[in-house]
Amino acid sequence: MKPVALVTGASRGIGAAVARALAPGHDLLLGGRDQAALAALASELPGSRAWPVELTDAAALAEATAGIERLDVLVHSAGVGLLGTVADTPAATWRRQFEVNVVAVAELTRLLLPALRAARGRVVLVNSGAGLAARPGWGSYAASKFALRAFADALRAEEAAAGVRVTSVHPGRVDTDMQRAVVAHEGGEYDPGSYLRPESVAGAVLLAVTAPPDAALTEMVLRPAGGA
Ligand code: NAP
Repeated sequence: MKPVALVTGASRGIGAAVARALAPGHDLLLGGRDQAALAALASELPGSRAWPVELTDAAALAEATAGIERLDVLVHSAGVGLLGTVADTPAATWRRQFEVNVVAVAELTRLLLPALRAARGRVVLVNSGAGLAARPGWGSYAASKFALRAFADALRAEEAAAGVRVTSVHPGRVDTDMQRAVVAHEGGEYDPGSYLRPESVAGAVLLAVTAPPDAALTEMVLRPAGGA
């Protein structure tokens, strides 16, 4: 039997690329809300099945994780990127950003920790360059990703003795729907050639997941080679 991996945000973007990269070596649970997209990906990847859950629904999360007793890999890719200056960002936006990017990640991880410990599993968090430095107009998004990095650091220290490894991956701009929305917000021209490909980020995730047992890959930073 292959190791089992759960990938959130697998319906598109980076998460879908991660699912494709992990598929040859793993049985997959494909997280997301778009059931048609998840079904299409599941039919493409043998050994995978859709795992449709609204991650901010705590009851749904508890129900969806209830049967999972062993989990080798948990990749958190689901996220939102709600931009705006501090002056223009109301409390509801801060709450939504933190609810999806931080609280849902913490709760899903907490629910799956027994299964991850049972497998001495790997947790990979798709963070961002914004989790390392905050820029004007990115305040609440960057704050959520700083929080996600702190969460990863605490989890790594707490679970090291149980054999659970934790990696934060910090990509720069990636050619996905989220980046299209970012560029539309900024008012610039969308230039996919100057951004990272989702497959390149997925390659970093695969490296973290397949690192040998003596090596803990704690943080990986990827920048578009062209400097975008
Ligand atoms: P994306 O194309 O917008 O896809 C977002 C994914 O998250 C979708 O699969 C979506 O599911 C899922 N999702 C969002 N909210 C959810 C919720 N409440 N419950 C369940 N699933 C939810 O985004 P992406 O560009 O692939 O980004 C993936 C991760 O990379 C995010 O954490 C983002 O912050 C990070 N990141 C992105 C970039 C970039 O430039 N794109 C750069 C650095 C870091 P449905 O479609 O099924 O709703």
